Amino acid sequence: MSHDAIACCRLCGDDLPGPLGPDDGIYRYTCRRCGRVALHETVDTAAIPGKLHLLSGWTRERTEKGERALTILANDVDPAADGITLDAVLNLPVLPRSITDRIQKLLEALARRSPYFGAEIGFSSLLDYPLAYLEHVPEDLEHRHPFHKLTEQIIQRGWIGKTAAHQYYLTAEGLEYLEKRHRQSPESRDCFVAMKFGVEFLDRAYQEGIAPAVRDAGYLPVQMAYLEHNNNILDEMLAAIRRSRLLIADLTTQNQNVYYEAGFALGLGVPVIFTCHDADAPNIRFDTQQFSQIRWLAPRDLRVKLKNRILATIG
Ligand SMILES: [Zn+2]
Repeated sequence: MSHDAIACCRLCGDDLPGPLGPDDGIYRYTCRRCGRVALHETVDTAAIPGKLHLLSGWTRERTEKGERALTILANDVDPAADGITLDAVLNLPVLPRSITDRIQKLLEALARRSPYFGAEIGFSSLLDYPLAYLEHVPEDLEHRHPFHKLTEQIIQRGWIGKTAAHQYYLTAEGLEYLEKRHRQSPESRDCFVAMKFGVEFLDRAYQEGIAPAVRDAGYLPVQMAYLEHNNNILDEMLAAIRRSRLLIADLTTQNQNVYYEAGFALGLGVPVIFTCHDADAPNIRFDTQQFSQIRWLAPRDLRVKLKNRILATIG
């Protein structure tokens, strides 16, 4: 495996502006197709030729959404390293599995770029196909790129229109389809954190472990420590849980409110990740074995384990 400078994108093979060496073991660059890429030098991309387009789609989508580049790591890396392992990325639930998923990804990209209804958006089959997570195709076959077939299909369904070569707009039917899909799988970025606050080591676990882990995974930590002694705004707390994409329940000190909030989330179908300090784990009052749970020793290992669990649970 070479750790030398590279001249092409390791994910799609497109030329980079100039040769680029690893910085602290990580190749960081912006590719015209893949967006912002951060790839550890030990990742053997040649071993997964059939899956590289999924990585390109994922990095491009994160870039377009303004999310920071997460470093892609080899699977056998030190678990404390900052980033996400190759296998974890390829198993993310946000990766499209079917043609319907790819159509939705492309419509979402169009909607993201539309400043107003009916705006014409340029899409290039040469550079923008990763927005639909489509396979890399040699450039001499560009005219037969799957991107053309996919857009033809979407036009036939009436979800997008085409005004000129490479110029598209989202139709009212397309918007309606997207809204329907979103109702089925809400895209909230809120992550509710239920835990005991006001205890020094737990406050530190939140500040240095849980909150950064949630942000690293692309979500927004929501915590309501100030609600603890104010039952008048219980409704607000329940509404915040209802709005959340997931809930993290730290059971350390076995706080009753935390159990209550976790139960409420589970009843609503909001995914719950349980965490607990290792020393307090024997005191857990009910069997959470069937649920995703993490035991931690310090904010640092909590941060790494939690981020990986969030990405593996909901992407
Ligand atoms: Zn690329």
